[in-house]
Amino acid sequence: MPGFATRAIKAASRVPAAPQAPVNVPIYQTSTFEVGSALELAELLEFARPGHSYSRYSNPTHAALEDALAELEGAEACHVAASGMAAIHGVVLSFLRTGDDLVVPRAVYGGVIGLARSVLARAGITATPVDTTDPEAVGAAIGERTRLVWLETISNPTTAMADIAAIAELAHERGVAVAVDNTFASPFLCNPLALGADAVVHSTTKYVGGHSDLTGGAILGSSEVVNGAREIVINAGGNAAPLEAFLALRGLKTLALRMVRHSSNALAVGQALETAPGVSAVLYPGLASHPQHALAVRTLRDGMAGGMLALEVSGGRAAGERFLDLLRVAVHATSLGSVETLCSHPASSSHRQMSDDDLASAGLSPGMIRISIGLEDPDDLVADLANAAAGAAT
Ligand SMILES: *Cc1c(COP(=O)(O)O)cnc(C)c1O
Repeated sequence: MPGFATRAIKAASRVPAAPQAPVNVPIYQTSTFEVGSALELAELLEFARPGHSYSRYSNPTHAALEDALAELEGAEACHVAASGMAAIHGVVLSFLRTGDDLVVPRAVYGGVIGLARSVLARAGITATPVDTTDPEAVGAAIGERTRLVWLETISNPTTAMADIAAIAELAHERGVAVAVDNTFASPFLCNPLALGADAVVHSTTKYVGGHSDLTGGAILGSSEVVNGAREIVINAGGNAAPLEAFLALRGLKTLALRMVRHSSNALAVGQALETAPGVSAVLYPGLASHPQHALAVRTLRDGMAGGMLALEVSGGRAAGERFLDLLRVAVHATSLGSVETLCSHPASSSHRQMSDDDLASAGLSPGMIRISIGLEDPDDLVADLANAAAGAAT
């Protein structure tokens, strides 16, 4: 008989046969999978047969999340990654090579600016910022070297919106692909692939997960597009984790309910703050005052506009910082898309890479506060945010 250590390892590795399917997808907390032959492993590593070999390549819990997200985004394929940035890195590097140019929104998620400066610049890939609220400006920015136009359905943090369908049409006429970061809208409010986008990414850290307890990302599109980006993610080691994929699956089940409440709460807060003392401007696509309100009504589900709102407190940068100190219900923290209301000051956090001039040209003032409206009772949120604005304003 084998010794105790051998028997313990064998005994503790037996996967139970489960004739009744569990109601939830199991967390396949394993880095590797037993194969029957060298050929089988070789084929698995090439994705030439169904199954799993090594969790940096694929894992059943990741695959369950990929199937679910692909269905909800109307995509042929999906690959999940360690974070939104791992997903963005995979998509960008699969479309661009040394000498190519990426067209990006002037007001874009700060991580994309960081990626351009720290990774793309070393690879000899340039990024051209453009006002993506204006399709003609995007057309003018597309040059000989442009391979990809990067858009955000609702942009971070100004809530500016891009006309994805119009931009996809003019980019495709020039042989240029379009990728959309759909994190702020979530697959519930918008499906950019149906509007003509070639690739979609999500930071599942945000609305898909919905509870500020995971980090993850996803790439969606045709099999060709997703396989191209997957090769980068696998080789750069940006793989998802089984527990995070499980948490994202759990989040997806309530995404619709949460987005409805995020949207109604944000609209209530936006309407109340538009006329509140100490507030000089509210940017929310659900308000008639928003520059792209008509586009929001046309592109987002049932007139909802999600939970992201930007606020201008009278008194500039100092007033913005005081506002954060006065919050009692909302939490001062970076990130977004969660059950609790989160407030941040982009000029000193997510967009700290930008100079004051760059901030201004992106429509992002130094005193702007980004608010991710949560699922609390709307009256409590309105009272907390109005009180902070009144106290902060000079
Ligand atoms: C948070 C975020 C990202 C990056 O996602 P991580 O999961 O933090 O890597 C990208 N785009 C947008 C719009 C985001 O809000």
